[in-house]
Amino acid sequence: MSSPLTEIGSIEELRKFDLLGNITDLFDRAEKNGDLVYADSKFKEIIDDEETDLQYELKIIDALAVRPINRPTEPESDEKITNSHIEKVNKKNPFLRPEPELTIIDKLCNDYRLVLNKYPNSKYHFLLVTREFEPQNSLLKPNELMIIRTIVEILNKELKKQGNGEKYFAFFNSGPNSGYSQFHKHIQFMRLPNGFKVYQNNVIQNVDFFIPNELDQNKRPLFSNKCSFKHSILKLNKLNEDDEENEDILALLYMYLFNRVLNVYKEMDIDRSKLSYNFLLMDDWMMIVPRSKANYEGIWQNSLGFMGLFNAKDEAVKDKILELGFSKILSECGFPMEEDEEKIVYNGYGY
Ligand code: AMP
Repeated sequence: MSSPLTEIGSIEELRKFDLLGNITDLFDRAEKNGDLVYADSKFKEIIDDEETDLQYELKIIDALAVRPINRPTEPESDEKITNSHIEKVNKKNPFLRPEPELTIIDKLCNDYRLVLNKYPNSKYHFLLVTREFEPQNSLLKPNELMIIRTIVEILNKELKKQGNGEKYFAFFNSGPNSGYSQFHKHIQFMRLPNGFKVYQNNVIQNVDFFIPNELDQNKRPLFSNKCSFKHSILKLNKLNEDDEENEDILALLYMYLFNRVLNVYKEMDIDRSKLSYNFLLMDDWMMIVPRSKANYEGIWQNSLGFMGLFNAKDEAVKDKILELGFSKILSECGFPMEEDEEKIVYNGYGY
């Protein structure tokens, strides 16, 4: 059993640590002791949408109604983020002094912590946070990508070994329109519902790993043309013995996807100070979704919607989601997929 003082110095050490066991034990204990705001959803439905190739889960999560919001500015505001905004955010920053009852690893690779999400969307939802304050709008660093990929790999291997059909994925909401609620840098890890199908797997199926190159038609990022929103997917390589090389490849792929967001913003002539995207990673792919708005008609979205996971804080929001339609909400919050999307060549250096 881990204690709040658990320290893991390196990726190699993390691979030897019983991460899944520690997360589940700590969550179960925190739930029992009332340290988490969690209850099984009273409404939960899986919906298949053949037209868009997406499977959706629609859930009511009571905890969303009490989840704190600690953003320096509101998405629609043109205010620049200043030191005084940051000071204000840090006064109620939950990740600077996380609760010991929720801390899985207090010191990970020197600069990070793993903590349980106090208001989880589903069981065993947790976060990787920086130990010192860093803004959520900063880029993911190569070592952060490596930690993220390693965590997903360790947990999914272990779940599979246990015959558990659930799978973890990681997500990062960055930029004022990405739908984040906390400004301290954090990456989240959540389980998909048992057997849940994700369209990204269909997209990368039968594709060999490649280093993207905009000038080569066969080496541009992949996407599902059935989706209503622009997105770019890259297949991940099989991890090799050399972690430094693994890290370099992850960084190269991520920066390529990040450039795509810059390209979309340039083409749409949108102010780059608003640059926002959702980044998702699973066993063998990573994906980016450029974001234009944080919400559509009051329905807020972060990475989860683009994975097919819709969460409502109450019945009224749930009904509104159904009335507007999943696809419409996603294309409005992102950028609508264009008819000739596969023919568009983004100028990889023109931003
Ligand atoms: P996001 O909304 O994407 O910025 O994610 C921030 C997450 O932090 C939310 O899912 C919250 O539930 C979670 N959170 C808020 N306060 C705490 C806390 N005190 N401890 C752990 N997680 C928290």
